[in-house]
This record gives sequence, structure tokens and C-alpha cells, in this order.
Amino acid sequence: MGKILFVSDRIDKIKQYSDILKQHEFLAVDNEASTIETVELNQFDIIIFDNAINNCKNIMKKVKSITNKPSFILLTADDKIENEKYINAFLTDNMPASLIISAINLNLKTQKSLEQLSETNKNLADSLYRLNVLYSTSSKFAGSLDKEKLLNYMIEGMDKSLSFDLTCTLAFCTEDKPVLMLNSLYEISDELLSAIKLRTILNYKSLFDNPPFKIEDIKVVKTVKYPAKHFTFNLFEYDNMFAPISLGDNFFGCIEIFKETPFTSDDATCFQTIAQQVSLPLKSATLYQEIKETNHKLEKLERLKSEFISIVSHELRTPLTAIKNSLDILSCGKCGEINESGIKFLSMAQRNVERLSGIINDLLDLSKIEAGKMDYHFANMNIHAVIDYVKTSLNGLAKEKGLNLIAEETPDLPEIYADSQRLEQVLTNLVSNAIKFTPSGKTITIRSHIADAAQIVANECFKQDIEKLSGKYIVVCVEDQGIGIAEKDLLRAFDKFAQIENSLSRKAGGSGLGLPIAKQLLEAHNGIIWCDSEVNKGSRFYFALPVSQIPSEKILIAN
Ligand code: ADP
Repeated sequence: MGKILFVSDRIDKIKQYSDILKQHEFLAVDNEASTIETVELNQFDIIIFDNAINNCKNIMKKVKSITNKPSFILLTADDKIENEKYINAFLTDNMPASLIISAINLNLKTQKSLEQLSETNKNLADSLYRLNVLYSTSSKFAGSLDKEKLLNYMIEGMDKSLSFDLTCTLAFCTEDKPVLMLNSLYEISDELLSAIKLRTILNYKSLFDNPPFKIEDIKVVKTVKYPAKHFTFNLFEYDNMFAPISLGDNFFGCIEIFKETPFTSDDATCFQTIAQQVSLPLKSATLYQEIKETNHKLEKLERLKSEFISIVSHELRTPLTAIKNSLDILSCGKCGEINESGIKFLSMAQRNVERLSGIINDLLDLSKIEAGKMDYHFANMNIHAVIDYVKTSLNGLAKEKGLNLIAEETPDLPEIYADSQRLEQVLTNLVSNAIKFTPSGKTITIRSHIADAAQIVANECFKQDIEKLSGKYIVVCVEDQGIGIAEKDLLRAFDKFAQIENSLSRKAGGSGLGLPIAKQLLEAHNGIIWCDSEVNKGSRFYFALPVSQIPSEKILIAN
């Protein structure tokens, strides 16, 4: 059955058509004004215009401008086809009833099919639009590590795909206080706000046991689209949907949305999808926030530690110098004769003061390097001079320990651009360690040569550092026949305060700062340090410094 309007002022035709189409809802009008009024108040499936009526074309045009839905059929007396662009079918005065009925039914069927098609198209367009919104929302989720932004993207996504009247998002993991984000079409009075807060708490309670906060703790962030209009309590009669927002395995908060018209099942799916999608990025954002805060704390601690070391070292150095001077005065007999055991204790005290001032100097150096305040005096210099200096200054110590300290150098190595004092410090550290960790009767050898980066080989632990090298390098090696270092401890030896557990290192003492200082001093020269060692056989500590200009005939192969 269809709803049909017949526009004609011919009484016989009105009678004829009302009889023929009696199984349909049939209405007739006989002039322009009543046609327009009727069309404005009703929805028809078909309008039959009688061509004989006065001003037929005009009436058709006006009706067309009001409604697009009905099918237009023109009844003509004389088979004359007119106004084609508005017309879907034609009837003639002399047409038998059977033909009229079939023409009307056919039109109704086509009309229904078209309606279904347009409904399907509309649904399809809606689904596509929603998919698009979901896609762009999840892209936004993926690109953000900011909790507040993520919640806003979630609400924006819901607004675009569901067009709500009000959302209430309770986020309780963002700040000290739980935050209630209200995104509302219209303004909300204070009484209504209290009711919404209470409702949110009840919603929250239905998910979690007791809320860890009171209603007055809630901070409200309100966004109102049309503040001139107000919501009343009948807002609670609107259709609503509610979902938890999780944070991985934990809950983050909840969201409730209200809409005056009912939500469909598609709306519910879309709503749940968005509320679930936000979970993972929220978790990442929380982790990111935690990492950032931990980093911040670590940086602060590191700064405090460096400052502390620097202050303490300075404070220790002054009294230590006074003690050292006093011991020197005592030991040279200026204050009277000292007996044999007195001399023994005095020299023990002097040795320990030396050791302590060595440790304090190391601490000061390290804090200066780490604060970027170390002074370097770069100049063109030769590594031979550094090796000579260190060998001469540590020869006595080596001899005292019954060790043979020798240098096997490649002659005439090219100059490098470096701070000779800092390189002496590095080499002194390495040779002192070799002396410390080598039993008497053995030999310590300082070697030097020039090598291309590709020819430099190191064990697995230092491979990554070596791979970064390019060009020519002066390589210095300190080889001992001492206690050695196990492979698992090789990298750790370069950590601050590291002392590899073995019988000698405890006895030998030290700050555990020599190697990390050497490493950082060399890095300031664009150089590197590495080590090869075998327990109970000995160690080889190498360092390499870049050479800028090297005469080709002097390139030697690394051993
Ligand atoms: P330390 O002041 O303790 O010598 P280092 O940073 O110079 O500090 O060395 C760190 C640790 O590496 C030492 O305590 C020792 O265990 C190990 N080490 C360094 N050089 C040698 C070496 N030539 N032979 C054996 N072990 C060594």
C-alpha cells in the first residue's frame, strides 16, 4: 500500500482514480494552494498531476522544490508528453483501470527499491565515515605520548562518530586529584554538576571497589560548545553509554556519554572500540612519563654526586697538603732525631698520604671531566716524549718491585695533535696498573706503532668501538705478565669505581678511577682505549690516537 496524492480539478477523474486506487491511501486536491499545503504536511509516495489543471507545470515545480521523495506521474488527456524533467511516468485519460493500477504499482515498487538503495547507501556512507574516524583516531593515538592529549583525541573521535550531547570522562591517574573532563553541548548548572559528579563516582564504584578519593577531590575541566543554552536535569533521561578506560591491566578511569536520541548497536561498538583503543597508548604514555621522571631524578642525582665529589675533594686537599708538609718536615729531621721505628711509621704515613692525594686527584679529575670543565692544552706533539717521560718516572717504582720496564717503539712516529700532560696521565695510569698487578721478576713493555683503522683488531667486547675508527692511528700498548683480567670483567674494568675481585687488587688498593679517567681523556682526543687479557698470563692495554697527516712510507702494520 502506498500514499497517493491526486492533483486535479476534474471531479470525474477524482472519482475514477479514488475508485481504482482504493487499496491505497488516497487524497485529492484541486488547486495550487491546497496542493502545497498538503505536501508540506504529508509525505507521499506518488503524486499524480492532472495536466488539465490550471498552471500544472508551476504546481509541479513548487512541489518539487518542497519535496524530493514522491514519484511524479502526469495524467494527460491527449497523449501529449510535457514537463518531462519532473515526470517519472505518464497516464492517459483513456487508459483502462488495469493499466493504471500496474503503472502505479510499478512506480511504488521502484520507489521502495530506490528508498532501500538510498538507505543502504546512507548506512554504507555512515560506516565508511566511522571507519575513517576510527582510523584517524587510532593514528592520533599512535602518535602521542601525552595522556591529556590522548583523552582529548578519544573524546574528539567519539564526537565525530557519535555526536554526543555530553561526555563525562573521569581520569584518576593523571594528576594528584582525579579529573572529570566534561565535554558538553550546553552549559551545566552547579546543581547539575554535583549530580554528574555523584553519578560519575557511582559509575566508578561499579567498576572498582571504593574510590580512593572523595567527591570534593574531583577537579573539573569543562568544555561547553553553546554556553548560552543550559542543560536541565532531564539530561539524565537521555540515552547513555558507559565504558571503563583501562591502562593495560589496571583501570585508568571511565567514560559516560549522553545523547538525546537513542544510540544504535553500531554506536555502541564504535564507542567501545575507541574506549579500548586508547588503553595501549595510555599505558605507553604512563611508562614514558615514569621514565622521564626517573631520568630527571637520575640526572639530578648525578649532578649532586659530581658537585659533592668536587666539594669534598677540594675540602680534603687543603688539610692533606698540610699533613704532607708536616710529615716531610718531620722526616727530614728538622724537628729532632727520630728513632728507627718512628721513621718506619713516618714513611708509612707518607705513603698513605701519597695514596690518598692520588685518589683525591682522580676524583677531582673525573668530576671535572664529567662537568665538561677539564682544561686541555692541545698542541702538535710526539708520543715518544710521553713514553720516555712515563718510563723514566716509573722506572724506580718498577725496580722496587723487581720488575723490568722496557719500551719497544717504532721509531720516528708522526706527530699528533694532543695534550701531552693528559696523555702522560693516561700512560702513567696504565703502567702503574701493570706494575701493581704484575708479580716481581716479570717484564712490562710499552710499545708504540702506527696503524690503519682497518688493521686494528680487538676482542668482541670492544669491537663496536673499533668499528667506529677510520684513518690512521698511533697505537700505544702496555703489556704486562701479571694476574690478567677474566673476559667477563674486561668491560667492567672501565667502569667508575670498578675493582675486579682478585687477591692482588684488594692488596694493591686504588680508587677504581684510573681506567675510566683514561677512557674519557682519550675520548676527548677522539681516541679509544681497549684491552686484551688472559687470567694469570697478563694483560695488554691499548690506546689509539688519530694522526692527521702521515707520510705514506712510514705506515707500519699493527702487530
Ligand atoms: P685502580 O685504581 O683500582 O687500579 P683502575 O680503573 O685503574 O683502578 O683499574 C680498575 C681495575 O681493573 C683494577 O682494580 C684491577 O682490578 C683491574 N686492572 C687494571 N689494570 C690491570 C692490569 N694491568 N692487570 C690486571 N688487572 C688490572
